[in-house]
Amino acid sequence: ARGYHVEALRAEFPILSRRMGGRPLVYLDNAATTQRPSRVIEAMRSYAREHHANVHRGLHTLSVEATSLYEEARREVARFIGAGSEREIVFTRNATEAVNLVAHTWAEAFLEPGDVVVLSEMEHHSNLIPWQLLARRKGVRLAFLPFDENGMLDLASLDELWTERVKLVSLVHVSNVFGTVNPVEEIVEYAHRRGALVLLDGAQAVPHLPISVEALGCDFFAFSGHKMYGPMGIGVLYAREELLEAMPPFLGGGEMIRSVTLETATWNEVPHKFEAGTPNVEGAVGLAEAVRFLREVGMEAVAAHEQELTAYALEAMKWVPDITLYGPGVPHQAGIVSFTLKEVHPHDIAQLLDREGVAVRAGHHCAQPAMRKLGVPATARASFGLYTTREEIDILVSSLIKVQEFFRHA
Ligand code: PMP
Repeated sequence: ARGYHVEALRAEFPILSRRMGGRPLVYLDNAATTQRPSRVIEAMRSYAREHHANVHRGLHTLSVEATSLYEEARREVARFIGAGSEREIVFTRNATEAVNLVAHTWAEAFLEPGDVVVLSEMEHHSNLIPWQLLARRKGVRLAFLPFDENGMLDLASLDELWTERVKLVSLVHVSNVFGTVNPVEEIVEYAHRRGALVLLDGAQAVPHLPISVEALGCDFFAFSGHKMYGPMGIGVLYAREELLEAMPPFLGGGEMIRSVTLETATWNEVPHKFEAGTPNVEGAVGLAEAVRFLREVGMEAVAAHEQELTAYALEAMKWVPDITLYGPGVPHQAGIVSFTLKEVHPHDIAQLLDREGVAVRAGHHCAQPAMRKLGVPATARASFGLYTTREEIDILVSSLIKVQEFFRHA
């Protein structure tokens, strides 16, 4: 994209100048976790050196400063994802905890035995297991939207599986296996017209696309700081304010209460009702800095850069002998390419690529049902970030050709 200076961006990420056995690091495991720019590392360090204290209860200066940094982070996140108010932002540990929070509160309170939660066959385990556990606790049923050979959801099947008992659609926005950008606006409209709510697992969407939860119209949106150039241990649940008001609390303890007797208690206002105990202030500070960084780079520019790279990668990788590429291709595929090589186990691919300095993931990507449907035990996955270059993709391709040759002669 014009005005997008990938080399200048790379210079902001200290880890990208590491070398691996004399070779430059080619980090293509961004769907697992992204790297952090110096300013995120520095923001967390400066918090620890100058402002650290517990939040929300102290009257001393440090506590006031820590509280204001924590609440400022909430406002930054709200603005970044287009939420109407910072009261709609609950800090969690990660996307996984955000989904579990909804399953343990909203779903416990408002779903009845026999009600249906619709998921897809391409869910990350973090948006599958919480619903399986709920199904066991409450007798709720699960129904699954299938995907086709290109990793695209089959929307026509919504009509087939829909009944008036469907109360929630909980869906991955961008698939961590295929990179598919699911048509979530259409699905939200479909579900809302029939009186169901929608949770989007945005863990892979936030780092790749401009997000406005208001434009998407979803009711819940879950994501993780560490996949968007921020730290680990901090994640977000966005939920519409009226839902947060109506939902019972999740974990009990300090911070989440208003008034407590030995017998009973009343709850703090939202979102604090859902943040029991001392929160990860340092993580929130780092996440806020990541958000400022992304806002300055511009998510439209990031998306354009990654679309171009994904198209380039899909074209270049085709030339690797005996490769199978999964996914729908651009414009429906965001920065994630899963692949297999005939007769080479994905773990061997990842290990041999590591010798070339290339970091990719191999495995089931926490999506075992999707692997089963593809008929493979695992895939290898290259996933891009805002700092990925064409040269890195060229290194991936030439290294894959070496892997093939190694196995041919083995
Ligand atoms: N959903 C998707 C689509 C993901 O890719 C991931 C992380 N691989 C998660 C959820 C879970 O994220 P976390 O482990 O940070 O909770």
